[in-house]
Amino acid sequence: MSSTAPPRVLTVAGSDSGGGAGIQADLKAMLALGVHGMSVVTAVTAQNSLGVQGYWELPAEAVRAQFRSVVDDIGVQAVKTGMLASIELVETVSELLTGVGAPVVVDPVGVSKHGDALLAAEAVATVRERLLPVATLATPNLHEVTQLTGRTVEDEGQMLDAAKALLDLGPRWVLVKGGHLAGEAADLLYGGEGEEYWYRAPRYDNRHTHGTGCTLASAIASGLAKGEELPAAVASAKEYITGAIAGGFALGAGIGPVDHAW
Ligand code: PLP
Repeated sequence: MSSTAPPRVLTVAGSDSGGGAGIQADLKAMLALGVHGMSVVTAVTAQNSLGVQGYWELPAEAVRAQFRSVVDDIGVQAVKTGMLASIELVETVSELLTGVGAPVVVDPVGVSKHGDALLAAEAVATVRERLLPVATLATPNLHEVTQLTGRTVEDEGQMLDAAKALLDLGPRWVLVKGGHLAGEAADLLYGGEGEEYWYRAPRYDNRHTHGTGCTLASAIASGLAKGEELPAAVASAKEYITGAIAGGFALGAGIGPVDHAW
């Protein structure tokens, strides 16, 4: 007996050996949200609850081959990108995504919660110039907003101007994540004049939040693959990440992961 195939979502990201972020978080979120998750591994990290102890990039050729294997046979209804590590990989992935024919959610990963760089400093300009223009949606946190636009955002009132500056870099939509501000966790989705949506959730006093950015972007891509419009996909993803943060649990001696089984 066979059943109908679920929508297919591809993550192009780094592996987290600790299972909390990166490819591992992406695939867990996708399973929980009822889509078929697939992966193009860009880098392998040695990582645990204490931080990233090291990482090794894959050759561009290996990234290209994984992508072609998936897209040319199985096909994708949405793509999510995460850790891309180097100029060469940002360029390669940007090229592959041009004309992929499916929505692309770009999580412009720069630095992990522990402060470990996951993208070479000199590759930020390539993300700005090559990757953002092929994004349907970019999902920067406030550190990444600063890295990409040079702007600092210190309160909610500054989020709209930051979103406008990011939109000028070429993505169709931007989600500015205000989670690092005090108070409610407020995110702003902006797609241009008249396309402004705010999403709010209570702040949980839980330090086990490893993998939040990866999970949110994957949840949005999953919603898009299921045919949701972007503002609705962000709303359902926000609900998912809020539950996952509420259930985040201790593992190891440091910061534990969000929960995908809530
Ligand atoms: N490791 C990998 C491979 C990632 O892709 C990411 C985030 O995108 C992280 C670690 C960082 O996760 P966090 O900042 O939630 O700790």
